[in-house]
Amino acid sequence: MTLSPKPSTTLPDTGIYERRESAVRTYSRSLPRQFNRAEHVWIHDDNGGRYLDFLSGCSSLNYGHNHPILKQALLDYIAADGITHGLDMHTDAKARFLEAFEELILQPRGLDYRVMFTGPTGTNAVEAAIKLARKVTGREMVVAFTNGFHGMTLGALACTGNTGKRGGAGVPLSHVAHEPYDGYFDGDVDTVQVLDQRLSDPSSGLDAPAAILLETVQGEGGLNAASPEWLRAISEVARKHGALLIVDDIQAGCGRTGSFFSFEGMGFTPDIVTLAKSISGYGLPLALTLFRPELDVWSPGEHNGTFRGNNHAFVTAAAALRHFWANQDFEADIARRGGLLEARLDRIAARHGLTTRGRGMMRGIDVGSGAAASAITQACFDKGLIIETSGAHDEIVKVLAPLVIDDELLSAGLDILEGAVRAELGSTLEIAA
Ligand SMILES: *Cc1c(COP(=O)(O)O)cnc(C)c1O
Repeated sequence: MTLSPKPSTTLPDTGIYERRESAVRTYSRSLPRQFNRAEHVWIHDDNGGRYLDFLSGCSSLNYGHNHPILKQALLDYIAADGITHGLDMHTDAKARFLEAFEELILQPRGLDYRVMFTGPTGTNAVEAAIKLARKVTGREMVVAFTNGFHGMTLGALACTGNTGKRGGAGVPLSHVAHEPYDGYFDGDVDTVQVLDQRLSDPSSGLDAPAAILLETVQGEGGLNAASPEWLRAISEVARKHGALLIVDDIQAGCGRTGSFFSFEGMGFTPDIVTLAKSISGYGLPLALTLFRPELDVWSPGEHNGTFRGNNHAFVTAAAALRHFWANQDFEADIARRGGLLEARLDRIAARHGLTTRGRGMMRGIDVGSGAAASAITQACFDKGLIIETSGAHDEIVKVLAPLVIDDELLSAGLDILEGAVRAELGSTLEIAA
């Protein structure tokens, strides 16, 4: 029997949060329940409510909540008093992870990357990437893109486009130029040519960059998906101008867009790649910066930290790689399911004269305004579907369902979304028909 969502209507007592937790909290405001348990695609609240999770910890739970195989591996490791702390010593958990990553991810894709364990959040991996690019090239500037999102620490924040986030810095955010992303101008502006021309012109005011940093699909910036041709051309611009190409695959990677890395099969290889979010597969913090071996010019401890390799995350990450990435089945599954998602979203969008965005299982609908998107996601939550927004004006309703979701549950969630869009935007085309 397939379960269906069953939201609770009783609001929890939130006094302790209001008294003690910083005002900076966000998701708890749009999801005003107290959650206590989760499995697969379900998350449960204190009052017996059951919600279908189309947020997946912002894509940190691509394999769903508490996947039983990953959970068992972690329980066994803890029961055997495995090493828990995260100083960068050699541990059996780290070796098992690196072996799985080499054997199942790097070698089959013909990739030769060194693996750097940064601090455990995505922004740490981005900081390490741009620091390394600056050290290798001796240059200061980084080219990032409009609507890019790369994290909240100062270096990564400087690479992030969003004004609201940038405003929190409190100091000038410097040494980054934000160039137009693929499709930024409606119409025929070739944004690769614009960048190439600016970098070729000694009087353009754009200094030679250490790196060009991009997401192949902009997760927080509105699910804009760059074309393979654009990405390949940008990689050529990087090479031509002596800049390293950094692909921030923190959200788009780990299968979200269909393949393990979001850039596979596109005819270029980034110099540096960042991974975080779903690399542990279990919602445990873990971040990696990958780079060509020749770029590994760090001296020991030059970029340091207490938590650089979360052993519990290594255990679940290795189990996830062995379970999902040992053959092509999972990728075929994501491709098929991504096709279902695309067809459903296209249909909803067409009915209301809207457009869709994204790639693979990372897709959304542009509903025109942040107010409409917020009303729609709120209505979804009231029906037991957790779903969030993205984009410069939070105008994109963004589906980040677990990659392992059954087709029926994916459909059930999309039914809720469809109803919410219809309720908010009306069904003008249907009425006309
Ligand atoms: C989430 C995200 C980050 C930052 O990761 P944190 O773990 O939140 O620091 C960086 N880049 C991209 C593309 C992301 O989606």
